[in-house]
Amino acid sequence: MNREDIATRLAQVSQRIAAAAQAAGRRPDEITLIGITKTHPVEVAELAYALGVADLGENRVADLVIKRRAVPNATWHMVGQLQRNKARDVVDGRTVIHSVDRRSLVDTVNRHAAEASVTQPVLVQVNVGDDPAKGGCPVADAHDLVAYAHDLRNLRVVGLMTMPPLPGPGAEAARAAAPHFATLRSLRDAVNERYPEVTELSMGMSADFAAAIAEGATMVRIGTELFGSRRTADGQTAKGAR
Ligand SMILES: *Cc1c(COP(=O)(O)O)cnc(C)c1O
Repeated sequence: MNREDIATRLAQVSQRIAAAAQAAGRRPDEITLIGITKTHPVEVAELAYALGVADLGENRVADLVIKRRAVPNATWHMVGQLQRNKARDVVDGRTVIHSVDRRSLVDTVNRHAAEASVTQPVLVQVNVGDDPAKGGCPVADAHDLVAYAHDLRNLRVVGLMTMPPLPGPGAEAARAAAPHFATLRSLRDAVNERYPEVTELSMGMSADFAAAIAEGATMVRIGTELFGSRRTADGQTAKGAR
């Protein structure tokens, strides 16, 4: 991917976001595009930022740390599952952690934020499809987990995040994901009544972001459509790797 390739893809994705927003009666500027640079070289993050993608995301702590250092003015998003022993490296009061999904992790993130004297923005990840392969708390626990995190001094819960199960063979990704997006939205609406600062809905990836925007997404996390398919360590193309 060179600069021109990314610029072209970015223009297309931005147009599709705007079209999906308009179709849903929403303003395109209600939706933050997060460019997911995972597995791509640091230069891809630098190029994307230079082209106007102010929000960038990674799913592994080590890669996040490297790219965040290279592109420090972007708003970085940690979207992958987070182990407690790696949380310290992520917490800086600015990087948005999308994958807080259990009390032990809430406690750890809060502790590191307190040590760094920062208020750490987080989203609570919800496993709306009860997919054993995905992180996230059960739908039934989400409200309690938000309440628990909300009461800690050094955390700010800004929203909810989900990653629906991969659709079965033949199923269309967007259609399969739509009911899961709707579930997260009603959960956010319910939580928001009690906690007005919980507004963000992080949902929608390359295959289904238009459906997510129709259901109210405020943050879409897009990798493949912006930066091409991912390479695994052995050089194979990682199809749909999540
Ligand atoms: C990889 C990843 C994405 C982006 O996936 P694409 O299908 O390539 O757009 C979004 N969210 C999370 C949590 C991811 O791990």
